[in-house]
Amino acid sequence: MKVLVLGAGLAGIPAAYYLARDGHEVTVIDRQPEAAMETSFANGSLLCQGHSYPWASPAAPGILAKSLFRNDQALRIAPRLDPRLWSWLFKFLCECPRARANQHAATRLRLASYSQAVMREVVQDTRIEFFHTDKGLLYVYRTQHCMDEGLRQMRVLEQAGLPIEVVSSARVAQLEPALKPIASRLVGGVFVPSDGTGDARLFTVELARACAARGVNFMYNTQVLGLDIERNEVRAVSTSKGVIAADAIIVAMGAYSSILLRRYGVNIDVFPVKGYSMTVPIRRPEEAPTLGGLDEDNLLAFSVLGNRLRLTATAEFTGYDMRLSRDDFRYMTQAAKDLFPTLCDYTQAELWCGLRPATPDGNPLFGPTQIRNLFLNTGHGSQGWTMACGSGKITADLVAGRTPDIDMSGLLYQ
Ligand SMILES: Cc1cc2nc3c(=O)[nH]c(=O)nc-3n(C[C@H](O)[C@H](O)[C@H](O)COP(=O)(O)OP(=O)(O)OC[C@H]3O[C@@H](n4cnc5c(N)ncnc54)[C@H](O)[C@@H]3O)c2cc1C
Repeated sequence: MKVLVLGAGLAGIPAAYYLARDGHEVTVIDRQPEAAMETSFANGSLLCQGHSYPWASPAAPGILAKSLFRNDQALRIAPRLDPRLWSWLFKFLCECPRARANQHAATRLRLASYSQAVMREVVQDTRIEFFHTDKGLLYVYRTQHCMDEGLRQMRVLEQAGLPIEVVSSARVAQLEPALKPIASRLVGGVFVPSDGTGDARLFTVELARACAARGVNFMYNTQVLGLDIERNEVRAVSTSKGVIAADAIIVAMGAYSSILLRRYGVNIDVFPVKGYSMTVPIRRPEEAPTLGGLDEDNLLAFSVLGNRLRLTATAEFTGYDMRLSRDDFRYMTQAAKDLFPTLCDYTQAELWCGLRPATPDGNPLFGPTQIRNLFLNTGHGSQGWTMACGSGKITADLVAGRTPDIDMSGLLYQ
């Protein structure tokens, strides 16, 4: 079959890889000059099954309410007259009761864990290198309140099959000596040994290169303009470089997927949630952490990519606004300096922002839509790196009409 993959990010490229393995004639279309130039460019780098508990949790309504009155914290929401934002937030709040959140956590973990196994298969096959570590992640807590809530969520994941180790602050320092100086200010942590880190952009670019070597065709600098639909089937995709006919189309356009699809009556609740990252050259390698992790009170993620420290934080609801200012990094820089005061020169930080393609329940969306040959692989929110490879394989399975390896309840478009 001739298959078009719309979007060359963490969702699109692994899908192209598995579709090509199935023997399809695959073309990837993206408006950027290279793979992973948008949300997949400088994310937190965490392969974090331990973060499978969704944002829509019993604690979320309180955090949201507080964020309306304070704009210095990790979650920021600018009250604005955007009906899509309010509709999304309403649906998000409906997913917050404990029973629903626990169910979504198990669904997300299922995909995240599967994806780690699939990633090993991809790496073994392609031999790509991307500063990958698989020594685990540390989730650390500064306050008892935060640790209690964090542990409650981790126990749900543990029950769903994730191995975890609850650790004291002394054990945190033992596992990660770089955190020794602040250990006395931590109440404890959770170590997830099956987690890891890796440079998502490098992985995506390298995998795209491997795909090209195996015959996948790439149309970069090409804007997707619309779909030509006839008798409930997409005949072709209109682009800035002409009309491209296809037998199957995969929509993997991140936060922009919903904008394209709603024109054809395919309504998905994928909304952009902006996040920020700083990438800072390490000046004292002897002080660098060897594990990645999360400072959960500050919602600050950290990981080492070669000789750089990557830090990410903030969930901000500002629509598709991609502007950034030094001020947006004030909170994150303070939190980073508290964790690693002398490790890097923070004045040298490369600043970046990206739009997480978020769904209210935190579950990505797969599968055929009401338009027969139009498939989804989008809505991965805060875990798109962790879920990338599994999502690609599932997409190829669904296009081929095969049953995916994992239970797909909660993950299929309806
Ligand atoms: C600050 C931050 C930190 C994060 N940290 C982590 C983490 O530590 N671990 C983790 O698992 N996940 C993390 N994520 C989430 C992860 O990065 C995303 O889920 C993932 O990058 C989404 O990939 P995607 O392919 O769906 O979207 P994208 O990477 O945005 O890809 C979509 C592609 O579609 C293209 N496109 C869009 N519209 C059009 C059009 N009209 N025509 C042509 N092309 C188009 C874009 O150019 C883009 O290349 C983080 C996200 C952010 C923002």
